[in-house]
Amino acid sequence: MKIIQGQGVSKGIEQGTIYFYHRAAAQVEMRTGADEQEERSRLERAKERTAQQLSDMAEKAREEAGDEAAVLFETHAMFLEDEDYMGAMDELLSQGFNAEYAVDQAGQEFAAMLASMEDPYMQARAADIKDVTGRILNNLMGVVEGGIDSQVPVILAADDLAPSETIQLDKSKILAIATQKGSGNSHTAILARTMGIPAVCGLGEDFNEDFHGKQAYIVGETGQLILEPDEETLVSLKARHAKQEETRELMRSMVGQEDVTLDGKRVHVYCNIGSPEDVASVLANDGQGIGLFRSEFLFMDSAELPSEEEQFNAYRKVASALKGAPVIIRTLDVGGDKEIPYLHMVKEDNPFMGFRAVRYCLANPDQYKVQLRALLRASAFGDVKIMIPLVTCVEEVLAVKELVEQCKAELSEEGRKFNENIEVGIMVETPAASLLADRLAEVADFFSIGTNDLIGYTMCADRGNDTISNLYQVYYPAVLRSLKNIIESGVKAGIMVGMCGEAAADPLLEPLLISWGLEEFSMSAPSILRARKTISQWTKAECDELAEKALACNTAAEVKALLESAAR
Ligand code: PEP
Ligand code: MG
Repeated sequence: MKIIQGQGVSKGIEQGTIYFYHRAAAQVEMRTGADEQEERSRLERAKERTAQQLSDMAEKAREEAGDEAAVLFETHAMFLEDEDYMGAMDELLSQGFNAEYAVDQAGQEFAAMLASMEDPYMQARAADIKDVTGRILNNLMGVVEGGIDSQVPVILAADDLAPSETIQLDKSKILAIATQKGSGNSHTAILARTMGIPAVCGLGEDFNEDFHGKQAYIVGETGQLILEPDEETLVSLKARHAKQEETRELMRSMVGQEDVTLDGKRVHVYCNIGSPEDVASVLANDGQGIGLFRSEFLFMDSAELPSEEEQFNAYRKVASALKGAPVIIRTLDVGGDKEIPYLHMVKEDNPFMGFRAVRYCLANPDQYKVQLRALLRASAFGDVKIMIPLVTCVEEVLAVKELVEQCKAELSEEGRKFNENIEVGIMVETPAASLLADRLAEVADFFSIGTNDLIGYTMCADRGNDTISNLYQVYYPAVLRSLKNIIESGVKAGIMVGMCGEAAADPLLEPLLISWGLEEFSMSAPSILRARKTISQWTKAECDELAEKALACNTAAEVKALLESAAR
């Protein structure tokens, strides 16, 4: 057995033949005394062809791997306009050098400059410049790029792969990717992840063309390339591969299906996101909407309060990408474990019960209105809904709604577009909100249950505290009763009740939630298809029967054992 250790940059396990990618490299020659005018127009034509190819690739990437991948090629196209990069070529042309030499030199200079930077992200951009440079050169010299000359899918191997090479290759021929160089930050790694292809980078010089044609396993989780595995390793690799294929098959069978119970009751499985970039994975997993956009990450990623324009752009991007499907955006949920240094919030003895979330926002109405205005403006681009975190009383909801009305009046005055009937809902994540659910349902347009906080506050158990972590469980009868009350109160009042805490993705709990009438289950993208499958396996009557038994249990252990024995 031989194991080459690299860096796992995209998960998954695959077995196949190693295929070393042959790059059709352009041999650049230096010429002096060239006709400057002639060389300039050759370079111009090559740049135009490059721009067209990059635009086609952005289109292909958008279809195959989402917006994030497409942006990469759009960025490459922007290099064609970069004054310094293009200026360096220009300078060499005016000195009488040929276009190939000018492009090659400018590319090398810029790549070296980026590679010498301290920031690993900027270092990884050197590969992008090399990619664009190689493309212009190929276009100048009429070199046709290499493909995969194999009838069967292979483990694609190379010293390094440029993103444009990765996207152009026939994906149905790539089982996995293995490269000598590269890092998790490289765009090839990002593309591999979004396309769901296992990938291992940085295998080093030991991994060379001598491996062409050999059989190997690629393990994305551990970053290993394994040749001739011993018996024990082979059994384990085969078992893991079989499990992966089973899960993939199950998932494939659920793509495009509706979110319905076995007896046809329609529910919605939505996604939790933290930034517009997460939308690619929502779409890739066939998510039908956003049940929670944690807007605080926009604030955390910034060195100062994000402006109305910055927030509006982020919210609009998500709303547009979801093409009319619901997008529930939670207003700033700061405090507790979410610190934003530039807000200079006072240190408290008990921050989880302190000046946080809606309490902080209502105490800073001018700042809060910036966010509400951005949300309202984004509502002109999709089905945006506003959600208030950590509600404990009716007054808070009314106060937020009053601010929303003020913002609407201002925006109308300014002639800006927004959804006049935008829904304003609440997170139900405190025992107070749970006990008051019937009243809150009269003033809120929807509920979304935040079990992460609700469990902690109900059980008086901090999730981060190991000593009492046994108490932090959704299966405790007190938590189940609370959930039942919240859901039934909302249903009775005729409002939509969803759940965006982690418990929404618990396959054991899902039948109980269906029984009580939960309409929307919001979770991280990789859980969507599994949840769709679980929900499709239960009828309402079966869920009711199980829920009744669960509520009759005295202990969390009994509840859990019951749900496990019934799991499908
Ligand atoms: C929750 O409390 O369940 C929730 C979804 O919010 P967060 O985890 O962001 O506090
Ligand atoms: Mg919460």
